[in-house]
This record gives sequence, C-alpha cells and structure tokens, in this order.
Amino acid sequence: MTELRIDGVSKEFGSFRALDNVSLDIPNGKFVCLLGPSGCGKTTLLRVIAGLESPTAGRVHVGGEDQTELATHKRGMGMVFQSLALFPHLNVAENVTYPLTIRGVAKAERDARAEELLDLVRLPGMGARRIHQLSGGQRQRVAIARGLAISPKVFLLDEPLSALDAALREHMQIELRQIQQRLGVTTIVVTHDQKEALTMADLVIVMKDGVIQQAGAPMEVYHNPANAFVAGFIGTTNLIPCEVADGTISALGHTMPVVDGDRVAAGSGPAQLSVRPDHVLILPKGQGIPAEVTFLRDLGDSRQVMLNADGQELVANLPQGSDVQLTPGQHVGLDFRAGERVVVT
Ligand code: ATP
Repeated sequence: MTELRIDGVSKEFGSFRALDNVSLDIPNGKFVCLLGPSGCGKTTLLRVIAGLESPTAGRVHVGGEDQTELATHKRGMGMVFQSLALFPHLNVAENVTYPLTIRGVAKAERDARAEELLDLVRLPGMGARRIHQLSGGQRQRVAIARGLAISPKVFLLDEPLSALDAALREHMQIELRQIQQRLGVTTIVVTHDQKEALTMADLVIVMKDGVIQQAGAPMEVYHNPANAFVAGFIGTTNLIPCEVADGTISALGHTMPVVDGDRVAAGSGPAQLSVRPDHVLILPKGQGIPAEVTFLRDLGDSRQVMLNADGQELVANLPQGSDVQLTPGQHVGLDFRAGERVVVT
C-alpha cells in the first residue's frame, strides 16, 4: 500500500529550481533515506512533504488523500529538525507532549503518553529533567519522542543525528531503526551520509540538483548504480573512461569481454567503468594494464593501494594477509575482476 505519493513536485525559489519534477511512491511502513550532496534539495523535499513549503507544481498525497493544500498541523506528520528545536523553558515531558498540548489534549492523557514515549526512547523517569541537564544523545531521544507524540502516519527527520559524534551516531542509528520497526511508522530521514543511508534504509533515494537520480533498496543502489553520479556517491569506487562495443569494454588500452555479473547500463560508445577497490586486481608487471604504485596505507582490515595507470588515479584494496609485496614506485599490472564491472554513463 502506498502511504506517500509525490507526484511531479517542483519547487522554485525565485528563478532557482530546488526541486525539479520529483515523483516518488513510498509504501506504508518503510524507512526511507533521502541522500545527496549539500544543496541537492533534500530538506526542501522534506519540507514540501510536511507542508512547511508549498510546491510550485505537483501534488503530495498521503494515504490516498491529496494533502498539497493542507496545513502542516493537519497532516498527521511528526518531525524532528536538525537543530532539534527543543524548548529550554519546558521540562522533558512538556517538550515531548508539546504537540498534544497545542492540540488541546488533557493533562492526564499527556502525562500517560509522556511516560510511554520516554520508555520507548529509553529515557524512563526523565520527564521532570530540564533540557540543559541532558547529554546530546538524550536530547536527540527527546526530539524523537516529541516527533512521535501524535502517533504520526509519516515521521520526517532532517539530519537528526548529524550533531552526534561517530560512536553515538551509530548507536542512535540502530535505536531509531528499532523504534521505527516497533511502531511500523513510515519514516523519511534526510542525510548526506551514504553509510547511514545504506545501513538504515529500506529504500534509498539519491538526489542531485533537485532531481532524483535513483530510488531503490540499498544493495540495489550500491551494486546497480543508475549513473556515474550514483556510482561515485555511494561507496568508494574507481570511475574510468571506457568504450563499450558489442560484448566488450575497453579501458586504459585493455579490452575485456563482458561476462555474467558485469552490469553494463550503457549502449555502444563512450561511458564510465566503475570498479570498487576490492575488485581491482594487482598482477605482476607485464600482465594486464601497466600501472605504478604511488601510495600504500593500512586500514586495519585491509591495505589500500593507490595506483597510477597512464595518468588515471586508481585505488585498490588488498585483503589483510594478502602476500602481495608492494612498495611505492613499483611497476605492476592491473585487472578488473570479471563479473564485478559496472558500466554507467
Ligand atoms: P543540505 O544538505 O546542505 O542541508 P539540502 O540538500 O537539504 O542541503 P536544501 O536545503 O533543500 O538542500 O536546498 C536546496 C537548494 O535550494 C539550495 O541551493 C538552497 O540554497 C536553496 N534554497 C532552499 N531554501 C531556500 C529559500 N527559502 N530561498 C531560496 N533558496 C532556497
């Protein structure tokens, strides 16, 4: 069942087009990440869904109802802003139930709901605390609890974890996902962190310049990028100019037959070959594509090798324990693992 349908939405600020004909169907209960570089329109799309911004063109439907003209507070959506926007003069419980207070819900009901929500975000018994007495992670939980106070049909979060340090962020990613799964609430999270999107989402929406580049399951977007932008934005990859002809890929003076597993999303002609560092094979000098080792570093579980092949910078990962001996300045050969090559335009 489609919970949220975004149909041909554009948003212009003066002559600048922040969203360009965006269409999207989000099924009920899914966890969706809007991902893309700064300025690509993620926040604008979230604000249009919330009704905080009205689109220049297009419609927003929730649960089959056209909500494009509906006021924000009537949409049944919960929101968590990047700034959190907690009220310092209210205690934790009053912050959490603020959306209920402004809707005229009675105090006894609010108190019961505050208790329930604080249990949900693992802050039991903290209702009387002031906001300044909380850690960053605890404030985050209060904002999440407040966003869920009205039992929203759609839960919208704008970079909710970006202010947290790496360890706490990872912890909160898991907690947020668990809360979402427990409640089954359709959730849309804006992030510019591709790892966060890949590990949390059911559905990743990659945006650039106000346009959706690809919408798909995380592993689909990772393994079958729709274009060179998505390939380069999701994970680390080598993008190498190539030429596609019937059944072959030519790059760096080397022609490879396309085999099962290779993904060629381009017709004949010039394109880009995307090869993940794990799939760059290092061979003895004289075999494959000639290259020079320029830099080596240990990543703990693997060794990263920077290479130069005819002016093209490449990165390879050697699994820890690999007995390939390398030093900077050394001449080697390269190949790209058959069945793991992706051609995009
Ligand atoms: P970030 O990751 O930096 O938050 P974003 O992808 O969320 O970026 P948006 O905030 O949606 O990007 O902004 C998209 C574009 O629209 C930007 O170029 C921004 O400057 C512009 N923009 C957003 N809001 C307004 C506004 N109220 N008036 C004019 N331009 C705006």
